[in-house]
Amino acid sequence: MSDRMLHGLDFGLDRNGRMRGINEVEQGLACNCECPECGSPLVARKGAVRVHHFAHRGATCTTGAETALHRMAKQIVADERRLVQPGEDTPTVFRDAALPDEMYWPGWRPDVVLWSESMTVHVEVTVTHRCGPEKLDEIVRKGIPTIELDLSTAYRPKRLGWTIEQLTDRLVHDPGIRRWLHLPERATVPAQPAGFPEPQTPTKTPAPTGRASTSRIYAPFDGTLLVFDPWYGLVPRDPGARAQLTKELQKPRSEEN
Ligand SMILES: [Zn+2]
Repeated sequence: MSDRMLHGLDFGLDRNGRMRGINEVEQGLACNCECPECGSPLVARKGAVRVHHFAHRGATCTTGAETALHRMAKQIVADERRLVQPGEDTPTVFRDAALPDEMYWPGWRPDVVLWSESMTVHVEVTVTHRCGPEKLDEIVRKGIPTIELDLSTAYRPKRLGWTIEQLTDRLVHDPGIRRWLHLPERATVPAQPAGFPEPQTPTKTPAPTGRASTSRIYAPFDGTLLVFDPWYGLVPRDPGARAQLTKELQKPRSEEN
């Protein structure tokens, strides 16, 4: 087995910042992907013998595979917006999702934020690094329900072959990989533009926010991936939709119907 194979990746990062499976891309350098860890160009190897995989074009880094798995897992959780909660049988469907890595975020970043009108849940995906004590402290202090999805037993260094479908099934359904890192006594938390950084206020209970103003912002963007903007709060990741939203938000209230 060559060294390249040893450091192969199941997923690559495309030019638009999306993680891609090997089946979604062209063969060779035409895959137009890079390693999400070191940024080196990737070659999609889709031969007849070995497991199809991405290989670094030049020098390989050693942690590209786990970074790729972690990043793909986060993307899948945010895309799917449904998750079997620990101890339950059927997936809870969420209305929106955000990836704090792509945003300004005070303090520790959760891997994924999922929310619906009735609750906000943070998700931590474990591949090789467990949530440290400092982050756990903050999770408990903020009091937001947090689920860990643990891929560490499924992840084998230097073994390839994860597909998006397998990974999606594990992340959404597999009861063996999920547990509550933190579940406050009140199982559901009122959704608010927050679920979100409410940084400097160590208040105990978040004040209920006006439902009307919340849906005014979210409704047109059902199903889009959101990012956190320090000024406007949650906005669509798509630049066009974002521009439209900020334009609407800048309109004086009196212009509304
Ligand atoms: Zn790399």
